Amino acid sequence: MTQPSLPALATRAVHGGAEPDRPTGARVTPIFQTNGFVFEDQEHGADIFAMRRQGFSYSRGSNPTVAALERRIASLEGGTAAVALASGQSAWLVALLTLCATGDEYVGSSQVFGGSLGLMKRLDKRLNVKCAFAEPTPDRIEAAITPRTRAIVIEAIVNPTGEVVDLDGIAEVAKAHKLPLVVDSTLASPALLRPIEHGADVVIHSASKFLVGNGTSIGGLIVDAGTFPWQNDERFPLVAGPWEDYENIVPADRFPKNAFATASRLLGLRELGPGMQATTAFFILTGIETLPLRMRRHCENAEAVASFLSTHAAVASVSYPGVPSHPNHNLARRYCPDGLGSIFMITLKSAEKAKQVLARVNLFSHLVNLGETRSLIAHPASTTHRSLSPSERASFGITDATLRLSIGIEDAPDLIADLAQALD
Ligand SMILES: *Cc1c(COP(=O)(O)O)cnc(C)c1O
Repeated sequence: MTQPSLPALATRAVHGGAEPDRPTGARVTPIFQTNGFVFEDQEHGADIFAMRRQGFSYSRGSNPTVAALERRIASLEGGTAAVALASGQSAWLVALLTLCATGDEYVGSSQVFGGSLGLMKRLDKRLNVKCAFAEPTPDRIEAAITPRTRAIVIEAIVNPTGEVVDLDGIAEVAKAHKLPLVVDSTLASPALLRPIEHGADVVIHSASKFLVGNGTSIGGLIVDAGTFPWQNDERFPLVAGPWEDYENIVPADRFPKNAFATASRLLGLRELGPGMQATTAFFILTGIETLPLRMRRHCENAEAVASFLSTHAAVASVSYPGVPSHPNHNLARRYCPDGLGSIFMITLKSAEKAKQVLARVNLFSHLVNLGETRSLIAHPASTTHRSLSPSERASFGITDATLRLSIGIEDAPDLIADLAQALD
């Protein structure tokens, strides 16, 4: 039997995971801003608690508005289930702690968001969950694998450079070593790249960026591809071993299609606690409806702005791989034929010039979010990448003269005019 084919992406962005609310007929998913859900009787409560039956009990663990968002992102990414968290940062934390215990290692890309690097180093120092850092190429990643490695963790499009990694190549290494591949796809969003199609087993998002799209909410998501063979794998006791306090449920046996999401929810939401609020989920669900439309515009604008900047006399370099002369251009286009997102860096001829641009821009907002409708500009060396060593900063190409741009969905000529007057 052939599977019924899924509706296309823009349709899933509008309809995925949500239907009219049965009791009220509300067409838009309501904000279920309630902590508790009334049980029918004692057995009902007991069954939900022991995971013998599906249902809601307390919003720290699950909530109907949040669940609609979880189903929508799972649908967009092509996964089987998802877990929503309070931030992208907590999505990383929960994913890593579901995979690794004290003494375990994972191979982590050295080319990831500054906040993720900080978390990876802190977990190493405080909990001895060790990250072997490697540049995100198949060879370098493979060389960093040891018998204690439990996962490979990378960013698909790197924040802040905009470089695209060789996902297929890295997924091959992960398969050869029987390791789950975890991919942060925040900068791509499912409109441009779906890592599960390239072999990722887990996808992470900061929903604070393109998914919500307008800078109103902080959130994070973990998507389970349902692909990794966890069963009986002693390296992953939270996924493949018994939970004593849940009648010895083994997520990989009881929920084979979404074992990782189940274990992440039990550890991350019920025990650690950084869940997402219903109102936040509502904003992100609403934002996602326009994601495919917005991404098209973000990408077109980024290409226009990057090509203007790459010929400007005051600009020493532009990191956007959408510019044909960029060394990553062909690989990037292969993975993201519909556009390369709208985050990139420019390095000016002096730190003084960078300061001048920050002071003079009008349309661009000087702040550290990214992926908003409005265009943004920031100085990584003194903000997002401040805690990195100078050599780590250099590995991203970040100097004191570097600015990170997040190109919005305004009219491109206005953005170019704003940068032109700030540069002159
Ligand atoms: C912003 C960001 C994060 C962290 O997400 P928050 O929602 O800010 O906690 C993680 N990864 C990437 C690539 C990001 O850009």
